This record gives sequence, structure tokens and C-alpha cells, in this order.
Amino acid sequence: MPPANGVPAALPGKKRRIGVMTSGGDAPGMNGCVRAVVRMSIARGCEAYGIYEGYEGLVQGGKLIKQMKWSDVRGWLSEGGTLIGTARCAAFRERPGRLQAAKNLIVHGIDALVICGGDGSLTGADILRDEWQGLLKELVSNKELNQDQVEPFKHLNIVGMVGSIDNDMSLTDATIGCYSSLSRICEMVDVIDSTASSHQRAFVIEVMGRHCGWLALMAGVSTGADFVFMPEKPPSENWEAQMCSLVSKHRKLGKRKTIVIIAEGAQDRSLNKIPPTKVKDLLSNELGLDTRITTLGHVQRGGSPCAYDRQLSTLQGVEAVQAVLDATPETPTPVISVIENKIVRKGLIEAVKATHEVTNAIKAKNFDRAMLLRDAEFVEYYNTYLMTTATDQPRLRLNKEKQMRVAIIHVGAPAGGMNSATRAAVAYCLSRGHTPIAVHNGFPGLCRHHDDKPLGSVREVKWLDVEGWASKGGSEIGTNRGLPDEDFAQTAKCFELYNFNAVFIIGGFEAYTALSQLRTARSDYPAFEIPMALLPATISNNVPGTEYSIGSDTCLNALVGYCDAIRQSASASRRRVFVVETQGGKSGYVATMAGLSIGAMAVYTPEEGIGIRMLARDIEHLRQSFAKDKGESGAGKLILRNELASKVYTTEVIANMIAEEAKGRFESRSAIPGHVQQGGTPSPMDRVRAVRLAVKCMQHLEEYAEKSRDEVVADKMSMSVIGIKGAKVVFGSMKDLESTETDWKARRPKDESWLKLKATVDILSGRPKPEDCCENCGKAK
Ligand code: ADP
Repeated sequence: MPPANGVPAALPGKKRRIGVMTSGGDAPGMNGCVRAVVRMSIARGCEAYGIYEGYEGLVQGGKLIKQMKWSDVRGWLSEGGTLIGTARCAAFRERPGRLQAAKNLIVHGIDALVICGGDGSLTGADILRDEWQGLLKELVSNKELNQDQVEPFKHLNIVGMVGSIDNDMSLTDATIGCYSSLSRICEMVDVIDSTASSHQRAFVIEVMGRHCGWLALMAGVSTGADFVFMPEKPPSENWEAQMCSLVSKHRKLGKRKTIVIIAEGAQDRSLNKIPPTKVKDLLSNELGLDTRITTLGHVQRGGSPCAYDRQLSTLQGVEAVQAVLDATPETPTPVISVIENKIVRKGLIEAVKATHEVTNAIKAKNFDRAMLLRDAEFVEYYNTYLMTTATDQPRLRLNKEKQMRVAIIHVGAPAGGMNSATRAAVAYCLSRGHTPIAVHNGFPGLCRHHDDKPLGSVREVKWLDVEGWASKGGSEIGTNRGLPDEDFAQTAKCFELYNFNAVFIIGGFEAYTALSQLRTARSDYPAFEIPMALLPATISNNVPGTEYSIGSDTCLNALVGYCDAIRQSASASRRRVFVVETQGGKSGYVATMAGLSIGAMAVYTPEEGIGIRMLARDIEHLRQSFAKDKGESGAGKLILRNELASKVYTTEVIANMIAEEAKGRFESRSAIPGHVQQGGTPSPMDRVRAVRLAVKCMQHLEEYAEKSRDEVVADKMSMSVIGIKGAKVVFGSMKDLESTETDWKARRPKDESWLKLKATVDILSGRPKPEDCCENCGKAK
């Protein structure tokens, strides 16, 4: 419809013109947001407008506000930074600037605005929302627009998304970009670690975070740093002596390196900045350590987003469009958040207010309150870090009668984070006075034990044994697929021989099966009448009782890296389709989430299977999209196929079918990344979650320390699985999970929470739905 009086008429029905902008400091994942908002808007019949250069684009208007089409955001998921630009805009801080911004929105007919930015940007959004009615009145009264023109824009919908590497926004567990930044930091610390160890040096590593210590703390947890400084939790008054004593204790125990992580905004309790130089001088002068400072700087901002940021930005972008469509004039302005594993909407005003309160509490030196105002997860990580770092903490030590001998055992294939979890469990046990015992090479290792040899497969673990495991991939104590039922009697005998009081199992579906067997065998073998907890760890993420297994994020990152590389190789030859085979057993989780993270054209899972019509439809879709492609996009297309999605339509068969049907107009190749998917170094997300969940498991086991065997047996939670379900971390009783949530045949949970995400992958890649196509030939109706 032609613009009436310079303002385009509103779109019919509930359809909107949705503006999307990125603002403030750039963060990896911002492009994923824009892609999701643009494509979801178009899929819902709306129009999408890119507002370039943040608020500057809104204030200046003109060429900085452009309608965006489906193909404009092709390939954006893997790009770092923000492709629509960001800028600091002083003009928007003043009312005349915001008046101009309001006019520009109306002139373009934009009636909804999705903003991805940090605390400052969302504060700005909140002010615009607050002033909106007044701005419209002013535009009419000073005759820039007339009443008829502003009438359809009485309600501007604003939706916030938090893009920030610092993770400094309240009411969300993670901001878009923070895990990519953490990955970069951990990569660097891992590099520094080896040189530090070689020369027995100390390193003081400065990371970003002027007001928020999330990056510093999480880097500390992920890398097993000796000391962490952060703004909202200054160290105690005598921190100099405390740090020196801790570091020298670690050195005396045999540690060859010292890593101190310091946030940019680190300060003492009187708000005096603690500069890295001060820490370095202390370590050099007081302890005589050869100490260096490394300031990581802008490398922390850059680079391609990690798998999690691609998922988060995509799912939040989708949710933001949904929030726009759901909005009524009464709906409070939302910010899209994530709590544990759940995307939720929170009040933008509340989130901005709570974030400012943290800053105010810090300024007022009320540090306990500042910590409280951060999310609960943050405080938990802090406590976990302290518990697993310091070696000698008499106040944490339990009475003798509460101390247990805890067996730690890995079962099944290795997964990223198994070692981090083991290290945390051992450190926790030592600080509480328990005896951690590593069972090497799983249940078969236990049964083949040599109690007469010092290095048998059942060994008490010391702090130094595990100290360097925070960032190690694989399984240091060895893992094995063997199950207890291979020799129940011998397993029980060993439990008794080594006097296990509790068992901590780390592993995937095999580990789950092992725990189930031990539970059912309890009636025959009293040795199993002790508390046991399972921490799910598998790249397939197919353990009932949790939506997330450690190792799955590492796997996704490996797969995403692999697919990015493949896609790039296709850019030279254009018009090429890759069919990539993923692992995952009978669970399509890995394929689907990787598909979401790379923007796969189609994902084939065992849950859905593959049919001839589905293939015909997808091949026809490929044919049409290559026909439209004038060569402007060099990006290849990717199809992900889980290894067990179909017996007949193997990866190679599908690639060949595509090649045959393409009739020379495009090419097709198959690719199998195989064990690359187990990942090398575990991702920081797997590391930090491994630490947190392992400590929770230990605390859970500890609850049974003084209980009688009868009490343990009577309590169904004495054998349980820790999991992240929706917005919560929960323990599920093995007994209940076995009977109600397990699909034993398919080796996966009955109800897989991620299944609904498949539709999102399809929508965002423009894959036609069955009902949109002709039944037989797959052509669009
Ligand atoms: P971040 O969003 O990463 O916290 P900034 O604090 O620099 O980054 O904010 C980005 C932009 O948001 C600013 O350049 C400004 O245009 C706008 N902005 C920030 N704070 C306000 C405010 N109080 N009022 C109006 N606009 C603001």
C-alpha cells in the first residue's frame, strides 16, 4: 500500500512491522538474534526492518533503517560481532534525540522494536517506552506529524534481549555472548597454563567486567584458578596475606603454576581499585614467584559465537517475535531471559531496576546485597568455587561420624566435563573430610581390582592428583561400558572390601543403566544399600531425568566448528549441499541442536525417521532455492542426519539421491565427523556445569551420611539422577525415572524436551512443511 501522508498504512490484522537493532558493546550471537527476528517475522507474515548502528540509526533514520529480506541474513549465525553495526549514541540520551527516533519509527511504519543490547541500551529502551505517549504528543504539537499519522502507533511494543559479554544483567542466567567470551578466555588461560607450568610461573590474567565478575568467576571455575578478584565480592580486608598463604599452600602441595584471574573492575572493600600490578608485586615480592601479567583485552569480544550463543540468540529471537505478536496494550514490556534451560519473559523495567540496584549496592559497599541481587546461580558458583579451590578450610570440615568414603566412577563413552566433575567432587570431599576414591576403568576395572598393589584400579585421590583436571578432555580415571550385572557378586564384594559409603557415577545411558541395575540388585546385595548419585555426562544428551548432560555442549561446539569449516569450503564451489552425519544414538538431540546452531536446511532424526516424501520435498526445496540463487551467496547448504535416523536412507544414499536429482545444477557430498564430536578440550559451559552439579551431587550424598541402611533403602532419593529440567536443577529418583520417564528400547527419555525445537529449525531455514507441498512429487502447491 502506498504511504499515506508519508506514513505507511498499518499491515493488515495483527501483522506488524518489526524493527530490530543491536546496541551497546557488541557481543557474539547478536547476528543470530537479528537472523531469528528477521526470519521469524517474515514467517509470521510481518515485515522486518534492520536499524543500523544502534540508537544512532534510530535517531538519524534515512538509510540506516532498511527493510530486511529472508536472504539478507543468510549465513549470519556463524558471524561474530554485529553485522548491522552498533554505536554509542549521545543524542539518544537526550529527549530531542528520542523525539527524532520516535518520528523515524513512525515514518517507516514500524510499530514494534526488538533491541538486543546491554544494560545501557535496555535502559534507553525503557526510557523510550516511558516517554512514548509524550513524544507522540510533542510530534503532533510541533507539527512534525499529525494526529491521524500517529494514531496507529499509540502502542509501541518494545522487546529487549540481553546481548552483553559480561553477563551483567539481572533476571537472566546468561546474556547473549557471555559464553563465547568465556570460551575465548578459557582458551587463552589454557594456553597460558602450559607455559606457566613449564617455568613454574605465576600469571595474573585480567579479564573484562567493570561492574560484574561473572567472566572472572566462571573463568576461575573452568580453569581451576588459584584466586579470583571481582567487583561485587571484594576479598576480605587482609586479602594480601590470604592470597599469599593460599598460593604458597598450593605450591607446597606440588602445584607448579599459579593463575590469578582479575576482573577489570576488581576492588577492595573500600572501593579502591585492585590493579593487576599490585597482585603481581605481591606474588613476586612476598612469595618470590616469577610473575607475569596478561591483559586479554578485546580478544574477549571477538570471534564466531559458540554453539550455546547461537542457540540462545536464535531461541530468544524467536521468542521476541512471539512476544511482539502476543502483546496487548496492557502487556508490560518484556525482556527475554533464560533461567537454566528455559527461555522466559521477564519485565524489562524490573530487570533494568535490579541491575541498577546491584551497581548501587556495590557503590554503597553493601556487597552481600550485591551478590544477593545477582541470580542465585551466581552465588552458588561463587560458593562452589571457594569450596573446590582452597585446600584447607577447617570451618567446612564435618565431624568424623559424617565423613564418608565416596567412590567416583566413570561409565560409558568419554564426554567433556567428566574430569572437571571428578576434580570438583574430589576437592569437595577433601574440604569436608570425606575420602574420595577413584575407581579406574569403570565397573570392569573395579572387578579386576588389585588391592595388594599400590596402583590398583581403586585408589584414594589426593588434591594434587586432580588439580590439573579442570580443563582436561576425556576421562583421566578411565571409563568403561561394562555394567555391574556382568558380575554382581564381585562388584558387591569390592564395594565391601573398599568400604564404600557412597557412590558418585558420571556417565551417559550406560551409567544410567548401571545405576538401575544396582538399584534392583539391592535386595540381593546389601553392599548396594548405600546412597548413589548419577551426573549425566554424554554427548548424546539422552539420559532420562535431565534436559542437559555434560559433554553435549562440547560436542555441539565441535560439530558447529566442523560444519562452519565445511560450509566455508563449499563457498568456493557454490551450489553444494553437504549431508553431515552426526552421532547421538537413537536421540536426535545433537543433530537438532547443531542444526539450530548452524542453520541447517533440514535435520533428520531417529524420532521422526526419514521417508521418501520427506526426501522428495527437501530435494525439491533445494532445487528451488538453488534456482533462485544467482550466485550472490557463496554459502553451501547443510543437512544433518543422525547416524540412526534410518536404516535405508544412509548419509551416503541421501547425498547420492540429491546429486542424482540435482541433474548437474548443484553438487552434493556426504561428511562424517565421527569421534571429532567427543570434542577435545571441554567447553566452559560443560566445565562450569560439571563443577556445580558434581558439588550438588556430593551434598546430596552427604545427606545420607548418618542414616541407617534401612533408612537409605526406604528413601527412594538415595539413588538418584541430577538434572536440569526447565528452569530448575532437580534430583530425580531412579525408581521413578526408570518406570515413568525411560524409553529403554530406544535408550532415551520418553519425553524429549528439545523435540519442539525441530519446528524452529525448519521455520528458520524455510523448509517447506508437508501440508505446503504436493503429496507425490514434493513440489510446492
Ligand atoms: P550497553 O548497552 O552495552 O550497556 P551503553 O551503556 O554504552 O552499552 O549503552 C548503549 C547506548 O544506549 C548508549 O550509547 C545510548 O545511546 C543508549 N543509552 C544508554 N543509557 C541510556 C540512558 N540512560 N538513556 C537513554 N539512552 C541510553
